[in-house]
Amino acid sequence: MSAANIITASYDAVVVGAGIVGAACADECVRQGMRVAVVDGDVIGGGATAAGMGHIVVMDDSGAQFALTRYSQQLWKELRPALPADVEYEQCGTIWVAADEEEMSEVRRKQDYYGQRGVPVEILDQDALERAEPQLRKGLAGGLLVPEDAVLYPPCAARFLIERAQVGGATIHLGCPVSRIGNGRVHLDDGRELSAGAIINAAGNGATSLTPDLAIKKRKGHLVITDRYPGFVRHQLVELGYLKSAHSTTGDSVAFNVQPRKTGQVLIGSSRQYDVEDKQVDNPILLRMLGRAEEYMPDLAQMSTIRVWTGFRAATPDKLPLIGPWPGDSSVFLATGHEGLGITTSLASARILVDQIAGRNAAIPVEPYLPSRVSSEHAYV
Ligand SMILES: Cc1cc2nc3c(=O)[nH]c(=O)nc-3n(C[C@H](O)[C@H](O)[C@H](O)COP(=O)(O)OP(=O)(O)OC[C@H]3O[C@@H](n4cnc5c(N)ncnc54)[C@H](O)[C@@H]3O)c2cc1C
Repeated sequence: MSAANIITASYDAVVVGAGIVGAACADECVRQGMRVAVVDGDVIGGGATAAGMGHIVVMDDSGAQFALTRYSQQLWKELRPALPADVEYEQCGTIWVAADEEEMSEVRRKQDYYGQRGVPVEILDQDALERAEPQLRKGLAGGLLVPEDAVLYPPCAARFLIERAQVGGATIHLGCPVSRIGNGRVHLDDGRELSAGAIINAAGNGATSLTPDLAIKKRKGHLVITDRYPGFVRHQLVELGYLKSAHSTTGDSVAFNVQPRKTGQVLIGSSRQYDVEDKQVDNPILLRMLGRAEEYMPDLAQMSTIRVWTGFRAATPDKLPLIGPWPGDSSVFLATGHEGLGITTSLASARILVDQIAGRNAAIPVEPYLPSRVSSEHAYV
C-alpha cells in the first residue's frame, strides 16, 4: 500500500494552523475533552502571529467588533495567572491620543460608548496626558485611557497555548503542509490523511488555499523595534487618527502607534497596505510611519532601532473574522480573517467556535462572524 490514502489517525477535531488563533482553538477543544491534532506547514506562531504587535485592545468600529474584542480582552485577563513570564503580558492600558479639539469629541464619544458597556475608561486632559506620557510632544489636546487593555508577546502566547493543548493530549504536527481539507479528511502534503469530526481551518492567509472562495485579502504592515529605553513609554499609545487609517479599505496608510515592551524596548507601528505581496521592507512607507511617530514623540528620532519587519494581516471586506461552520462542507469550520485584531480576539474566537461545534449558545451572539454571511458570492462586499 502506498503512503497516499493512509488514514494515520482519527480525531474529534483537527486544527490546521498553529498561529495564535489555531493555538487557541486547539487549547479550547482540549478543554472540552476533545481528541485533537494540530497541523502546521511551518512552526508554531510563525505566520502573522510572529509579525503582530501584541496589543490586546477593545475596539468599537462596530457592535460586533466591540463584543468580540471585549470578551477576549477579559479572557486574556482571566488567563493571566497561568501565562509564563516569556509571554510578557502587561496590563499597561491604551491611551487614545487626541491631537486637537475635533479628536477630543471622538474621545468623549468613545468614553460614552465604552462607559455604557461597562469598560472602565478615563478622559485625560492636556495636563493629565503630559503627566501620563511625558515624552509625547507638548500641546496635544488630551486622550482616553482604557486601563484594562494590555500587551503581550504573541509567538510565546501561541506556544503556551499549543503546549497546554499538548499536555491535555493534543498531537502536534509541525513542518507538515496541508494540501486539502474536506469530507472529514485532512490531506497532508506527504500523503498522510487525518480523519476528523471537525476540521478547523485556522490557516490565516493560507486559509484561502484550503477553503475556496474566501474573500480574504492580505494587508501588509511594518513594525520597528528599538534598543532598550526603560520607562520611555508607559502605555500603548495610539493616535485617534489611527481609526481613519484602519478603516480605509484601499490605499496605503500610516498611524502613530507605539508600545512599551517589558524589555524596555519600544515597538513602533503601524502601516497598512493592500495589494502588496512582497515581504520586503518598503522604505518610503517605513519613513512615513517613523515620521508620523516622531511627530507625536520627537525623541524617538534619537533612538537606536534594532529591527524592522513586515507581516500580512488576513483582512475580510467587512472587517470581521470568519468564525463558524463553512456552508460548503459540514465537517469544515473556519477561524480566520482576523486582520489586525487576531492576537486580541484569538481566545474569544476559539470559545465561540467550540461552542458552535458543541451546539451550545455562546456568551456573545455569533451571527456577525458566521462564514455564511460571505458564502453567497461575497454578497456583503
Ligand atoms: C504588523 C502587524 C501588527 C499587528 N498587530 C496586532 C496587535 O497589536 N493586536 C492584535 O490583536 N493583532 C495584531 N495583528 C494581527 C494578528 O497578528 C493576526 O490577526 C493574527 O496573528 C492571526 O493569527 P492566525 O493564527 O489567524 O494566523 P497566522 O499567525 O498567520 O497563522 C496561520 C498558520 O497557518 C499555517 N498554515 C497556512 N497554510 C497552511 C497549510 N496549507 N498547511 C498547514 N499550515 C498552514 C501557517 O504556517 C501559520 O503558522 C497584527 C498583524 C500585523 C501584520
